[in-house]
Amino acid sequence: MSECPECNSKDVRVAIHTDYKECNKCFHFWEESDKNQREMKTKVVHSQSKNAWNVVNTELGGKYKIARIPYSQTDDDVLNTIWKYEALEIAVHISKSMETFKTKER
Ligand SMILES: [Zn+2]
Repeated sequence: MSECPECNSKDVRVAIHTDYKECNKCFHFWEESDKNQREMKTKVVHSQSKNAWNVVNTELGGKYKIARIPYSQTDDDVLNTIWKYEALEIAVHISKSMETFKTKER
């Protein structure tokens, strides 16, 4: 359990929807890196069986999918390529945003 760096009170809480801690006694507000939190490492891979890009957690051997971004395919090769790479851009965006996402270790 953490304590307030100002008044050493143990009556602290995490400010809602933030990574900040808040003291219930003196109302000090500070940022504390939680050692139980870590970054999620992800990468984008193409699905082996479907027209889809998968964002996977690399730490779990790529088994755990964070997101799946499917795309359509038609008889038009130009359109197919556009749709495939539009889906890839979305997948890369999701993967990159996971770099700053902190998850609790289980
Ligand atoms: Zn305090």
